[in-house]
Amino acid sequence: MKEALKEAKKAYKKLEVPVGAVIVKNGEIIAKAHNLKETKKDTTKHAEILAIQKASKKLGAWRLEDCEMYVTLEPCTMCAGAIICSRIKKVYIGTKDPKTGACGSVLNIFEDYKFNHKVEYELGIMQEESEKILKDFFKELRKLKK
Ligand SMILES: [Zn+2]
Repeated sequence: MKEALKEAKKAYKKLEVPVGAVIVKNGEIIAKAHNLKETKKDTTKHAEILAIQKASKKLGAWRLEDCEMYVTLEPCTMCAGAIICSRIKKVYIGTKDPKTGACGSVLNIFEDYKFNHKVEYELGIMQEESEKILKDFFKELRKLKK
């Protein structure tokens, strides 16, 4: 999660909502990414999607079985869907997203639906740090807009 937070900081510096994601296989980091929605002017460039793309490229496979993801913010419906489709085994989540979170906040894709693949997940990993970087970011953004 520390590495995911480092990625979130990279997003922060680019004036992107600071969210970072890391994918681990057998204890080794195989992909790191951060939110690039504004930079790329593309709503699909969430950290999780970018990390999945990098991991798939590295492994030469779309199936990310035995892989675990660390992400600083609760994934949205798009990302949680991609996590299920890529067969990621477990997701460690930093803090909740009450507005778009799809892992328990707005809805719970991982538990409430009968998909062919079940993703394990855990919320509240380094929650304080994951929440703080978002709060700091939005505070600074409000200042910039004044
Ligand atoms: Zn997302």
